[in-house]
Amino acid sequence: MTDMIEVEGVTKAFGGIVANNDITLAVPEGRITGLIGPNGSGKTTLFNSIVGYHPIDSGSIRFEGAEISDFRVQQIARLGLLRTFQQTRIYSKMNCVKNMLISVPHRHESYATIFKTYPPEVTEKAERLLEFVGLYEKRLLISGDLSFGQQKLLEFAMALMNEPKVLLLDEPTAGINPTLINGLIDRLKRATREFGITLFVIEHNMPVIMGLADNIYCLSNGRVLAHGTPAEIQKDGRVIDAYLGGHHAVDSEESD
Ligand code: ADP
Ligand code: MG
Repeated sequence: MTDMIEVEGVTKAFGGIVANNDITLAVPEGRITGLIGPNGSGKTTLFNSIVGYHPIDSGSIRFEGAEISDFRVQQIARLGLLRTFQQTRIYSKMNCVKNMLISVPHRHESYATIFKTYPPEVTEKAERLLEFVGLYEKRLLISGDLSFGQQKLLEFAMALMNEPKVLLLDEPTAGINPTLINGLIDRLKRATREFGITLFVIEHNMPVIMGLADNIYCLSNGRVLAHGTPAEIQKDGRVIDAYLGGHHAVDSEESD
């Protein structure tokens, strides 16, 4: 099995805080890899390092075997490695299709491109992906009028517009009601099967990540504490201690 992402000995500090401390892990192709850990354990920092949002202090990050740790966000995105954010990032005054259209590359063009017409195949692709996430009926609604969970689905569809090879999802189910969570999990699994996308998912909802991921890494205090299948992680005493022994409960709210 090929590893799409290889993180080796990555360290990243903010002032005196070592957010990622000598992290080594791999994200295998075509699978769903989970990333868990208590609040402040360094999950979002690792995602930011992988996608080039900030430079790392030491270590190596490879994408499809090539070193990318010196690359910038746009370079890495062009290689097919994308992320979504803990906070939803959509244009709330535009309808869903418009959001989909402006999420594709050529972001360097002026704001005026938003008002241009798009080739029919691009619009068709947008509608097809909106159908995939269950938003086809709402495609012409102003996205600010969607429920929070539907906005998350829209954001996922927007990421798919870019045809990523690997998608990093930071807490995709946070703030979504249980019914939509099931729909989202189903879509994430289908995206790996039908589009061959590799997923790397931060999630603090334990039942969700146990049902979703093929394998899971657990961070604690910036280090990899454990790695294994969901069944192995679930009965790992170190993982349970990391959650219960810290200052945060498993289901605590996270902030960015
Ligand atoms: P998680 O996503 O697991 O909750 P984070 O990666 O957001 O954890 O944070 C890990 C640690 O790094 C925390 O102590 C946090 O306060 C710190 N941190 C994260 N980003 C920054 C930043 N931009 N500047 C300073 N400290 C940061
Ligand atoms: Mg986080």
